[in-house]
Formats: sequence, structure tokens, C-alpha cells
Amino acid sequence: MKLICIGRNYTEHIEELANERPEEPVVFIKPDSSVLPKEQDFYIPEFSKEVHYEVEVLVKIKKVGKHIDEKFAHTYYDEIGLGIDFTARDLQSKLKEKGLPWEKAKGFDGAAVIGRWLPKNRFENTNNMDFSLLKNDTVVQKGNTAHMLWKIDELISYVSTYFMLKKGDIIFTGTPAGVGKIQANDYLTGILEAQEMFHLKIK
Ligand code: ZN
Repeated sequence: MKLICIGRNYTEHIEELANERPEEPVVFIKPDSSVLPKEQDFYIPEFSKEVHYEVEVLVKIKKVGKHIDEKFAHTYYDEIGLGIDFTARDLQSKLKEKGLPWEKAKGFDGAAVIGRWLPKNRFENTNNMDFSLLKNDTVVQKGNTAHMLWKIDELISYVSTYFMLKKGDIIFTGTPAGVGKIQANDYLTGILEAQEMFHLKIK
């Protein structure tokens, strides 16, 4: 199982990190070992002093496919989730400066939070879903999938030209503005269309 992650998919988040607007989706992969086991606390790794949360809508792939045409992409998933792409921002900034890969900053153990899954037919339109992240009961990130630069079906088509998608693979579709640092004892809650999708404690 692989986690395919999209960077810079929401304009306001691109601006807050002073990144360039990409001409194509930014894609990276997290290993399966980065998945935080269910109901487990997240431990801030000792190699970082600045771990950021990035709340993201998730899509679970249900069958094998490559070179998927955008108009058939919807037949490759029927579950939607919400998760966090934890990022060691200090380490990532150093790697970016040197033009090096980001894996250490984004693929470390526990860096992928995957909440519960809901059938996509529970949503009227997956291209118009509100989601948010609460830190200690205060909303810190708020987004709507309508504001993605590349929508879910476009992303599936795009990534499948490079990576064969397999049953159980998960796509992290990018984060909206509002990313920020976590500290020990923080409590994070993810909401998708008014439903709680995950909650976790930071240690
Ligand atoms: Zn992300």
C-alpha cells in the first residue's frame, strides 16, 4: 500500500508558504510505515522542532489502474476520508533549499494520520465538501474541495500516468491554508461535512 500525496493544491496555502504556483500537481509518496496506527497518540519526533499539521481530504483506491482517463477516475474509488500529512517543516525547508527530496520530512513514522472512511455516495458532490481541523477545540484550518487547483478525478488521472494505482492505495489531496505547529498536549480533531473523522493527542 502506498500513500500518494499532492502538494500545493490550494492557492492560499501556496501563498502562505511563499511557494510558486505549480504548472502540474506536486506529487510525493509516503511509505506505509508512516501510517499512524489507529487510536494511537502522535509523538513529535526528536529530529524536528517544528512539526506542522496539514489536514487533507483522502481518497481510497479500490482497484488496479494505470493511465486512467479522467472521465473514468470516479470508478476507482468509493470511499472518502480525512487525514493529516504531518510535516517536519524545519527539516523540509532545509531539504528544499538544497533541492533534496522531502521524504525524511514527510515520510517518518506516524506522519500519516488516516481517519475513518465514509462511502462517497454519502456526499452530494465530492468537489464541494467542507472540511476543517480543530486544535484544542479552535478551528485552525478550513477548506472546501471546490478550491482545489486539481480536483480528485484529475489527480487520479495524473498520478496514474506515473504510478500504477493498486487497491488500498490512498491519495492525500493537499492542504488548504492555516497550517501550523503542534506542541505536546495539543488535541487535534478533523471534521468533514460536519462529521468527526479523527481525533488525536500530541505527545
Ligand atoms: Zn500535504
